[in-house]
Amino acid sequence: LNFSVKILGSCSAVPAFGRHHSAQLVKYYGSTFLIDCGEGTQLQFQLHKSKLSKLTRIFISHLHGDHFLGLFGLLSTLSLMGRTKQLQVYGPKGLREIITTQLKYSQSIIKYPLDIIELEFPKSGILFEENNLRVSHCPLDHRIDCHGFTFEEVKQSHRLKPTCENLNLSKSQIANLKKGNDILNENGEILHKNEDLTNPPRKCKKYSYCSDTKYDERIVPFIKDSDLLYHEATFLNDLASRADSTYHSTAQQAGKMASLTNTSKLLLGHFSSRYKELRPFIQEAQTEFENCELAIEGLEFFIEK
Ligand SMILES: [Zn+2]
Ligand SMILES: [Zn+2]
Repeated sequence: LNFSVKILGSCSAVPAFGRHHSAQLVKYYGSTFLIDCGEGTQLQFQLHKSKLSKLTRIFISHLHGDHFLGLFGLLSTLSLMGRTKQLQVYGPKGLREIITTQLKYSQSIIKYPLDIIELEFPKSGILFEENNLRVSHCPLDHRIDCHGFTFEEVKQSHRLKPTCENLNLSKSQIANLKKGNDILNENGEILHKNEDLTNPPRKCKKYSYCSDTKYDERIVPFIKDSDLLYHEATFLNDLASRADSTYHSTAQQAGKMASLTNTSKLLLGHFSSRYKELRPFIQEAQTEFENCELAIEGLEFFIEK
């Protein structure tokens, strides 16, 4: 499982109909990242058979309770489990003070190195690049400072054709082929053309996370060409004015954003507790964009297998 997104929670404001607050796992080769950490997220890890110990970094979009109230409990549990590895937590200004205050008054200690990185708002930029994955943030249009995140591959190698196996190539020759270079002899003449021995690299894959936000076309350049786009759809269109006044989006607006940004697949989430039945979210989004699904807890969406 090379690049995937697993949903642990997708409910806004008040938990309802068995749905939990926002949390999802992004897995990229050996790395596991958590985006948002609503109340009870550590229990959702257990329920959906995901390992807390595998977490390498956490991203908090904003400081509304449905996106971060599970964080302190999860950080404490990791300490009780004997974690020694550093953990990076990215989030809005104020997150460090919140965690420090909770530690102070509960007289608790986190035993592993905890690195809280506060994001400037309304800035955007690259947070880090690691193992061929680049993670960036951008400002969203919500009631308080809120950040969207993208996870995109930096580059892909040329893929060796099976014929390479019979050529007794050295490690450096193989590395050269993967970079797209020809193989030369000692006089600098072409021995093998790259195109004869490799297939072109596959497309770099991208995942974008946008919650919570008003419909806002300023984020188009940031999330464009996503293979998978999670966009909040708190309401249906009959409550478009409520979506507007509370700085949220409707399912139709999420669909419109997907069609504007050349997205391959749209994932709808952050459903209001007023809706028991979620099928209408799909129907409404599909008036703008065909390939969409609901972010149902426990489902894993594969971007690259
Ligand atoms: Zn929310
Ligand atoms: Zn919010």
